Amino acid sequence: MKALVYTGTQELIYRDEKNPTEVDGESILKVYASGICGSDMHAYHGHDERRVPPLIIGHEVSGQVQNRKFKDKDVVLNPLITCGKCNYCINGREHLCPQRVILGMNRPIERQGVFAEYVATPDQNIYEIPDGLDKNEAPVAEPTAVSLHAVLIGEQSLKKPLSECRTLVQGAGAIGLLCALILSKIKGNKDIIISDPNKLRLNECSKYVDAKFVSPDSKDIDNNGFDIVFDTVGLEISRQQAIEVVKPGGSIIHIGLTQPTGPFNFRKMTLQEVSVIGTYCYTNKDFAQTLEILSNKDIGPLDWIEFRDLKNGANAFKEIHNGSCIAPKIILLP
Ligand SMILES: [Zn+2]
Ligand SMILES: [Zn+2]
Repeated sequence: MKALVYTGTQELIYRDEKNPTEVDGESILKVYASGICGSDMHAYHGHDERRVPPLIIGHEVSGQVQNRKFKDKDVVLNPLITCGKCNYCINGREHLCPQRVILGMNRPIERQGVFAEYVATPDQNIYEIPDGLDKNEAPVAEPTAVSLHAVLIGEQSLKKPLSECRTLVQGAGAIGLLCALILSKIKGNKDIIISDPNKLRLNECSKYVDAKFVSPDSKDIDNNGFDIVFDTVGLEISRQQAIEVVKPGGSIIHIGLTQPTGPFNFRKMTLQEVSVIGTYCYTNKDFAQTLEILSNKDIGPLDWIEFRDLKNGANAFKEIHNGSCIAPKIILLP
């Protein structure tokens, strides 16, 4: 099969690779479409110790099952593979399973990713594409589930409804846009500011969601001004801003994975009882709810997705890297 292989820092090569082999309890998908995620960019930059080249990366995927019990079904994958037996798995927090792996990683164990013509998956990760969701748009279920999970965790942490909150979303990438869409269209939150240094991106996102779009240094982002802040960036500088601009008693939902450490105003966090909550992926329940949301078109049309050919995928990575790509999500078609 053909695949887009991560072969070294900022290097992807479209080349022949071995087809996945049939394994008990697993199915093989012929890929319809696969989305480029921020975490794929992280790997591309050589910053992810779980993704070591050479490796087929990518985990957002739809396809048609080729064998076994789901044969011929059009499906989308929950790419988070968990043990199903531990305390986290049996209590609905599968995403925290100590044995979790995501497609498109090879540490601690190998799972080839989805930028390919075929991919193997455990059967329990297969979800049928619901009516109303286009098979080429379906990979967006994965980042939508990430965003839904973050919004739900934020909602639980607050002492008032999201609809009454003043909200800051840092970052106008796919996760930022999806958080804002869920907040605005599902949770009735009408007071949202989205910040990003890239004006082209802000302009693009402004076509799809009802919010105010500003640069991160805008005066609109005032100290002690926001009930809840979604940091989809995860830089030292975005965290430092988040803690200064959150209201006393407010929440910071930390999703971005760009910089792992750095100074932070723990004094304000403590004295003002700010909840700082990390969120990762989604539970199986969140994933199922996401498919319902997409099927019902609750977050509106998905026309902010841009499609490219898998064989030219390396160029898409380059454009995302140098900031010339403004689409919040690129989906590759083999
Ligand atoms: Zn993703
Ligand atoms: Zn488990």
